[in-house]
Amino acid sequence: MITLQECLDSLKQNGQKLTPQRTEVLRVLIHSRHSLTARDVHVRVKKTFPHVSLDTVYRNLLMLTESGYVSQINLQNKAISRFEFQGDDHHHHAVCLTCGATFCIDSCFIPKKLPSPREDKDFRVVSHAVEIYGECSKCAQSRSA
Ligand SMILES: [Zn+2]
Ligand SMILES: [Zn+2]
Ligand SMILES: [Zn+2]
Repeated sequence: MITLQECLDSLKQNGQKLTPQRTEVLRVLIHSRHSLTARDVHVRVKKTFPHVSLDTVYRNLLMLTESGYVSQINLQNKAISRFEFQGDDHHHHAVCLTCGATFCIDSCFIPKKLPSPREDKDFRVVSHAVEIYGECSKCAQSRSA
C-alpha cells in the first residue's frame, strides 16, 4: 500500500499544488478505513483547519480524484457521493440504490484492451470509471421482512 509521503511526492512531480488543506484532506482519507462523504471529510479536516469551508474540501477532493489516488463513488448521484483513498490499489465499487452504502469489488474486471471508439480509432485511454448499482443484502432483507 502506498504511503501518504509517496503519494505527496508523486503528486508534486505531477505538478499539483499541495496546500496544507489538500495534504490534510488526503491524510484524512488515508487514515479512514471506509469511504467518506465530503461532509465527513469536512468535519475531520476542521479539527486541524477550523475555518476551512465545505466547498474548499470538495474542490480538493475532486482534484485528488483527478490524480487517480482517490476514487469518487456513486457518480450517478454526486450529491451523496463518497470518496475513498485507493492509492495504487485500483478497484471498483457496488452502490446500493436504496441506502447509498458502497462496497469495494476486490479487482478490476475491465479488459486491458478495450474496443476503440468508432469515431477515433487512436483514442488513448488514460483511466476508467465503472460502478455497479443494485440493492444491498440489508435493504433486501428489510424489504422482505
Ligand atoms: Zn442498502
Ligand atoms: Zn474501494
Ligand atoms: Zn478498473
